[in-house]
Amino acid sequence: MNKAILIVEDEAAIADSIAYALRKDGYEPLHITLGEQALASARATPPALMILDVGLPDISGLEVCRRLRQFSDVPVIFLTARSDEIDRIVGLEIGADDYVTKPFSPRELVARVRVILRRAGGPAVGAPAFELRAAEARVLYGGRPLDLTRYEYLLLKTLIEHPGHVLSRAQLMDRVWSDAPDTLDRTVDAHIKSLRAKIRAIDPAADPIQTHRGMGYSLPPA
Ligand code: CA
Repeated sequence: MNKAILIVEDEAAIADSIAYALRKDGYEPLHITLGEQALASARATPPALMILDVGLPDISGLEVCRRLRQFSDVPVIFLTARSDEIDRIVGLEIGADDYVTKPFSPRELVARVRVILRRAGGPAVGAPAFELRAAEARVLYGGRPLDLTRYEYLLLKTLIEHPGHVLSRAQLMDRVWSDAPDTLDRTVDAHIKSLRAKIRAIDPAADPIQTHRGMGYSLPPA
């Protein structure tokens, strides 16, 4: 399945942060800074989705999209810095699937990528693949059992039982380490880290546990 996401953006810092968030979610970002190159790339190797900045150094993102639509139905999310550009994106009906206004959160953008690809019948990257077998105190990932310690199991179970909910470290400590009241934040982090490693051992591209900086952890919505 195609996980390639073409990022067309001339600001390296923005492109890097998007690419990082996409990679964390199992996508394969490709970064291009010019509109003409983006069209050539999309023609040669069609991506699953294009993230397209409106303000590019050569031709505008709107023009890129207009020309893209002559040969491709690939979903497009526009990045825009100005509200008057939004009117043009919406008003021109050039076939944009969505837009985000700068500044934006890369995580929020990736969430929209996921929604659009799911809607388009594309790859369900990041979809929860856990199977909780509470009676056996076991969790399967992608049909394969995870070899978990007691606290890793309880931690993962708590996350699985609350898909799409951000659980703070304090909430996780309450629920998972109820018999160990002196637990520290970093104990939670360490167990999340080892859980991620064990999931990656089954699927190197998988990283379903999301970190919400300053807030906690979550699994994707069911
Ligand atoms: Ca720009």
